[in-house]
Amino acid sequence: MARIADLLGNQPTLSFEFFPPADEVAAKQLDDTLDELTGLAPSFVSVTCGVGGDGHDRTRDIVTDICRNRPFPAMAHLTCVGHTQQGVAALLDDYAAAGVANILALAGDPPDGSAISGDFRYASELVEVLRTHPAGFSVGVAAHPEVHPRSADRASDRRHLAAKLNEADFAITQFFFNPADYTRLCNELADLGCRQPVIPGVMPVIWPKSIRRYAAMNGSTIPEKLFSDLEALSGQERVSAAAESAAELSQSLIEAGAPGIHLYTLNRPEASTLIAEVLSDQGPR
Ligand code: FAD
Repeated sequence: MARIADLLGNQPTLSFEFFPPADEVAAKQLDDTLDELTGLAPSFVSVTCGVGGDGHDRTRDIVTDICRNRPFPAMAHLTCVGHTQQGVAALLDDYAAAGVANILALAGDPPDGSAISGDFRYASELVEVLRTHPAGFSVGVAAHPEVHPRSADRASDRRHLAAKLNEADFAITQFFFNPADYTRLCNELADLGCRQPVIPGVMPVIWPKSIRRYAAMNGSTIPEKLFSDLEALSGQERVSAAAESAAELSQSLIEAGAPGIHLYTLNRPEASTLIAEVLSDQGPR
């Protein structure tokens, strides 16, 4: 299975993010979306993982299934807060046995703001574990262009990110809407001696209400005009307008030197298909 680290640096990559479906209807929807997006020949896809419960197992099962049955690599998101060294080691052995080569190492969020428990506190500790695993995983980490909400200040956010990313292969960002936030992040990392690839995460605003909520949680600034324009539309009109604005943002990020685009699909194919069509002139792949 291809390692994402080896795909970066050639042509810009195009990747899609999914979340584990909650029920059988949603599972069928995800399967149909994967069928449709397969036609776009993504460089890779990724699957988020829930915190607690059977979150990790469900992600493992979906990622393993994609790696076995689809013609592109799947990366597993893996959160570490609340987990034991032993539990994480067992999961990594499962991934290695299934031939999964790519892991996104994340801290995750303690449920409902409760105190951080378990053997891990920061994503960098998980990166360390991944680096010593014999499978030789390709390792990604999260980056927050507008600064992580738990960071004391911008400078410490960038210092911790640069240290973490220098031990990993690449980063994928939280969603944002102003391309200047991405270039500023890359410049700040370069000033700290970190030049690892940072793939921007792009969110098509197909469900403005939900995306406002996510943005409030992760500190992404909402462009009011875009959101109110999209809120005034519905159905296919809204999907097309959301895809168009996400494609514009993606285009300017590629022009700014981004190594690829990671699309938050929300498990729906429509916006991603339209964005990929617009981008195909520039050849992200
Ligand atoms: P960290 O890198 O550990 O950073 C968290 C905070 O700790 C930051 O403020 C950082 O500056 C600070 N910090 C780091 N190291 C130190 C140190 N040594 N000393 C002091 N402070 C330090 N969440 C999920 O639950 N499931 C998912 O699948 C998921 N996927 C994601 C995918 C992407 C692309 C992104 C951007 C986020 C994703 N998240 C997911 C959310 C993520 O888990 C949260 O944002 C979480 O709060 C932080 O994760 P992190 O890996 O950035 O943490």
